[in-house]
Amino acid sequence: MASTTRAMMRLPVSSIGLPAAARRSLATSSQSGTPFLTRSQLSSRITSNKSQFQQTFRRTYADVAPAKKPKRFRFFRYAWRLTYLSAIAGTAYLAYGVYELRHPDDQFLPDPTKKNLVILGTGWGAVSLLKKLDTENYNVIVISPRNYFLFTPLLPSCTTGTVEHRSIMEPIRSITRHKKAAVKFYEAEATKIDAERKVISIDDISDVKGASSKTDVPYDMLVVSVGAENATFGIPGVKEHSCFLKEIGDAQQIRKKIMDCVETATFKDQSPEEVERLLHMVVVGGGPTGVEFAGELQDFIDQDIKKWIPEIADKFKVTLIEALPNVLPMFSKQLIEYTESTFKEEKITIKTKTAVKKVTEKTVEAEATGPDGKKFTEVMPYGLLVWATGNAVRPVVKDLMSSIPAQKDSRRGLAVNEYLVVQGAKDIWATGDCAVAGYAPTAQVASQEGAFLARLFNTMAKSEAIENQIHELSSELNLKPGVDAAAVAREIEAHEKQLRRIKDIKPFHYTHQGSLAYIGSERAVADVSWMNGNFATGGGLTYLFWRSAYLSMCFSTRNRVLVVVDWLKSKAFGRDVSRE
Ligand SMILES: Cc1cc2nc3c(=O)[nH]c(=O)nc-3n(C[C@H](O)[C@H](O)[C@H](O)COP(=O)(O)OP(=O)(O)OC[C@H]3O[C@@H](n4cnc5c(N)ncnc54)[C@H](O)[C@@H]3O)c2cc1C
Repeated sequence: MASTTRAMMRLPVSSIGLPAAARRSLATSSQSGTPFLTRSQLSSRITSNKSQFQQTFRRTYADVAPAKKPKRFRFFRYAWRLTYLSAIAGTAYLAYGVYELRHPDDQFLPDPTKKNLVILGTGWGAVSLLKKLDTENYNVIVISPRNYFLFTPLLPSCTTGTVEHRSIMEPIRSITRHKKAAVKFYEAEATKIDAERKVISIDDISDVKGASSKTDVPYDMLVVSVGAENATFGIPGVKEHSCFLKEIGDAQQIRKKIMDCVETATFKDQSPEEVERLLHMVVVGGGPTGVEFAGELQDFIDQDIKKWIPEIADKFKVTLIEALPNVLPMFSKQLIEYTESTFKEEKITIKTKTAVKKVTEKTVEAEATGPDGKKFTEVMPYGLLVWATGNAVRPVVKDLMSSIPAQKDSRRGLAVNEYLVVQGAKDIWATGDCAVAGYAPTAQVASQEGAFLARLFNTMAKSEAIENQIHELSSELNLKPGVDAAAVAREIEAHEKQLRRIKDIKPFHYTHQGSLAYIGSERAVADVSWMNGNFATGGGLTYLFWRSAYLSMCFSTRNRVLVVVDWLKSKAFGRDVSRE
């Protein structure tokens, strides 16, 4: 019957005449093997065929104009289609990213006739310059004691094992190998920059040293992007007793020390005072790094350590010390209040208007200002002390500054002009935390500066090539017989026009995209630039935004995949509490 209906659907209604349909019904029944029928059988068969026919007819009619299906599930159907199409596209994109990463193209060899462009550092400024630079225009040499790029925004997550350290490192060799023209890399520290002779002294500070471990590298153009070191403000004991949070080694040391404090606190016959001291974790610095670390630490304690070592669960204490009246000074007032109230819920003590004066092996001595404005000294015993305050100028930068008279009044780093040229120096540019360009020392600023310099250098190389062409054309003009001088003059004019367009590069301008910080308990705060204003938000959804923003900012597909896997791993199995 179904096939009959489908066959009828294909025919126009007018071609299915009623007698014809009835005839076909009867013929079919006679073929079915009943040769003779009684009168009553025949009449009942005809009646049944008639009603069958009427049904068929009705259904055919209904098939031609079917009743509309309810639209209820249409949205889900489309959503499902969109989801699986996005999943296929995402997988293809990921596979392509991995393939590209694993199969770099052959590179051009360095051309000795081109200029030596030396880049000091493998941080945010240097790597963003390298990423956008057309390396075929220069002989590029990168020098840094670190042979990887470090994604610093996720460094606080490494201290507790939420993210593994290798997931946020990208080997510089992989970055340089993916450039069109080969880039040299020397794993060494620049110890001196001679701006007069245009030479840099470098020193291999790694454990393994060859016969050559100190040498000089000449440059035609130099980019100083060595970042900054930790500021201790000359406070006694800070360098000796506290952990910093700037490099991978620092995060690993903190991770080890947290578990060392925990295991030592549970040692046989430990006195209650000593347990209290060992489990008091102090963070100095209420900027994003200090706040994020305190949040991550409290999560680790609440979600993992307390589970495995319940006997000391109520002994943990995290204190955040800040000299200013509030934490996260770059965020809006409402987000500062939100952070402070979240910390209160998480039982993290915030001590604002408290300046550390001295650090010993077991205590932090600070000068605090009470609500009445009176100053008093507070001594806090601690097990772990993390120092996350400001930046200080690196010795190599200090030395360069002292050799340039124009830099004598600059205190926080190399003062640069609007094109990031080091003031008072020739052919030296600076980016990031070691440069003073009027912006905060952040990864956002450093990477925008690096990208700007790449555009500038690409433009300089292009305009130099055009200038050479113009020079060649104009020096031969009217000298060779049979050359169309008017055509050559037109060509020169076209080149000059192109040159003017290329040379019209605007000074560096920083675009602030916003500030983000994780504050623990799967909550984050964000001050995001939106249209011409600001959009301030905090909470669980902001935490998802924080995660997706950082994931999209990771250097490579490899980093992104590893970070996601780490997040899933720590969610499913908890963070690892073993001490390496
Ligand atoms: C824990 C943490 C979290 C952060 N989170 C954020 C964030 O969320 N958002 C944000 O915008 N900013 C953040 N920052 C700040 C940001 O990381 C820095 O502003 C940024 O790294 C500066 O970039 P840079 O290139 O100047 O220096 P760096 O990235 O520090 O790189 C300096 C490079 O120079 C190399 N170097 C050092 N000395 C020498 C030498 N003598 N010779 C040659 N090379 C040398 C170093 O090995 C390194 O490769 C964070 C910083 C930290 C520490």
